[in-house]
Amino acid sequence: MSTIEINNIQKKYITKSNTITALDNVSFTVDQSEIFGLIGPDGSGKSTLFRILSTVLLPDSGEAKILNYDVVRNFKEIRKIIGYMPGKFSLYQDLSVEENLNFFATIFETSIEENYELISDIYKQIEPFKNRRAGKLSGGMKQKLALSCALIHNPKILLLDEPTTGVDPVSRKEFWEILNKLKLNGITIVVSTPYMDEANLCDRIALIQNGKILDIDFPKKITEKFNKDIFSITSDNMYLLLNDLRKFKDTISCFAFGDSHHLVLEKNKIELIQLEKFLSHHKNLSIKKIKPTIEDCFMQMLQNKN
Ligand code: ADP
Repeated sequence: MSTIEINNIQKKYITKSNTITALDNVSFTVDQSEIFGLIGPDGSGKSTLFRILSTVLLPDSGEAKILNYDVVRNFKEIRKIIGYMPGKFSLYQDLSVEENLNFFATIFETSIEENYELISDIYKQIEPFKNRRAGKLSGGMKQKLALSCALIHNPKILLLDEPTTGVDPVSRKEFWEILNKLKLNGITIVVSTPYMDEANLCDRIALIQNGKILDIDFPKKITEKFNKDIFSITSDNMYLLLNDLRKFKDTISCFAFGDSHHLVLEKNKIELIQLEKFLSHHKNLSIKKIKPTIEDCFMQMLQNKN
């Protein structure tokens, strides 16, 4: 039995002006002690799925079960076994760090003392600021407090909606280290992120766009399946370079990726020297054949869909 089973979940939002399909036939399973990543850009449906799994939103159709409890019929049982960290900072801004934690412990009929062991690794990093109002904490500290609150009732499953969005790189790294420790303690984690580099920190990932799952696999398998050649290219004039590369006759796609452009070509279709010749009018040209990242794979999947 999987810890989480999701079958054909559909969810539409009907507004005055239009109907938005937020989740379109989403299905996947998550195993015990797995870190499962939902990777997708803003608006792809990640929060909607978290809200359904955490029983605060009803699906239009389909079924989702957590430890065999149905998210619609058995919502009370589910609320006891999950810890949910919503995307937006959900804590009480005017309460102190300690008051927030006490509040969450109380509503789950426990106390900080009773479950201190569970959160000590995380909480001791913010304990020196326990009298500070939550609204006055830095992004990384808010995130640690929110995670402590989500853990205080000893949940078996953690649902973390974009926990690292807007958090500095050091705190992001620390956060992933904490998740790995929690996983070793048997906790199952579903985590969403718009940062493609975080995909590699998950055991398995689902790539999601416009409410549709594009692929579900181990991050390494996803990049191994990429069956094209890919080059990282820079020159003195990056704008002109992008335009030129998009005009190149063999280009499948070319996108700006950080400081360079990533050019995708059919496998073994052309030699580097042909590309250099085509771009010979560029100054300080650098062309490197690279291994694809998850982001490259994501872009390619979108390209194939259109
Ligand atoms: P993500 O978490 O990946 O950013 P969401 O689940 O928040 O995605 O949103 C998916 C889609 O549903 C988006 O197009 C968003 O604008 C829309 N949406 C989300 N919540 C609502 C709502 N309450 N009413 C109308 N549309 C919504």
